[in-house]
Amino acid sequence: MYAGQKVPIQNVSPCPVSCSLENWGHKGSPLFWFCNTFYTIRLASHFFFKPLYIKPLPLSVLAPAHPYFAQALLEWYPRHRRDLPWRHTRDPYAIWLSEVILQQTRVKQGLPYYLDFVTTYPTVHDLAAAAEDEVLRHWQGLGYYSRARNMHHTAQQVVREYDGLFPNTYHDLLKLRGVGQYTAAAIASFAFGEKVAVLDGNVYRVLSRVFGITSDIAAPAPRKEFQALADTLIPAAAPDEFNQAIMEFGAIQCTPLKPDCLFCPLQSQCYAFQHGMVQELPVKSKAKAGRTRYFHYLVLRYGDTLYLKKRGPKDIWQGLYDFALTETDAAELPAAELVDIVAALGGQLTTNRAEEPVVSLRHVLSHQKVEARFYPVWLEHPLSSQALAASGLAPFTLEQAHKLPKPILIANYIDKSQK
Ligand code: SF4
Repeated sequence: MYAGQKVPIQNVSPCPVSCSLENWGHKGSPLFWFCNTFYTIRLASHFFFKPLYIKPLPLSVLAPAHPYFAQALLEWYPRHRRDLPWRHTRDPYAIWLSEVILQQTRVKQGLPYYLDFVTTYPTVHDLAAAAEDEVLRHWQGLGYYSRARNMHHTAQQVVREYDGLFPNTYHDLLKLRGVGQYTAAAIASFAFGEKVAVLDGNVYRVLSRVFGITSDIAAPAPRKEFQALADTLIPAAAPDEFNQAIMEFGAIQCTPLKPDCLFCPLQSQCYAFQHGMVQELPVKSKAKAGRTRYFHYLVLRYGDTLYLKKRGPKDIWQGLYDFALTETDAAELPAAELVDIVAALGGQLTTNRAEEPVVSLRHVLSHQKVEARFYPVWLEHPLSSQALAASGLAPFTLEQAHKLPKPILIANYIDKSQK
């Protein structure tokens, strides 16, 4: 104890803001000089070296805010959450379906798909037994079709290897095809109450803003940093509720462009709000601009027959059906080339029909843009079996074509051409 000090030194906070003069000891003590110097440097940096001052604090310093963070979210959640069907179940199958469907998809868009899947395939056995074409058809319009194919494979894996019962731990869930860290954490916490924090785009944004984390969330490296923080935040008593709460908070309160900071329960603790950095956080480097591809579709028809082809692997839309396709580097396809392509496919143009207009449609994917042109081609004769075998095309009635899984671009064209 220093002379005149009323409490033992280990009970004295080093923070000059919260210390009372009584606890500082006498003016000439080392503690007094340490606190005084620290306070002066900090004050000076605020006025003269702003960039230094706004450098995010290390997470260890922010640790005392943790209990407040979970408490604020758990109080906020019951009053604001949206009533969504997958929040009324602990069935890992239904939760898994919802999580796969909602990846890179807004709730409003994903909800009808979720309802369709749980109605059509009420159990994992039903989904596993379905044909892939049928599953892809139900998925049509949702994009990222590899998710649907993986989902179908995973259902078969669960039936085959786990007797139809989903694994009940985070680590075992990771062994399923197409189940990554986020999905495994969501199922493990929502269905089985395991204390494992989820990290999705909403969670990254909330953590980045509240704790002032400036790491680029588009890069893979900071994932560990965010996961470590999220793991310290999640309360053992309510991991499922906390995970739902933080994702919902990011989805409807701390939104990307217009967060509702005015009525935010974390406002006083929020680093981004306190430092005027709400629009700067999270830091996310821009993805490279996607390339443009020019697709020329020959819509071959004979009477009521329409010719389509199942797409192969190593390109977009694997397993979906489209028309005879020629891809070029330019937007235009000369008419003479068109005739040559029809001949190469084993077809012969009819002279009995008036020319139909070429339809142009555009489809934007995450990393590429497709500019598609559809050329209606009426054939003089049906395609021979040799021509079908060589081209991979197959004949369908319009009704059959409607039931096939197709890229939304093709479905839109067929709908448009019916009107
Ligand atoms: S104050 Fe604003 S930026 Fe901070 S957590 Fe709340 S809504 Fe998000």
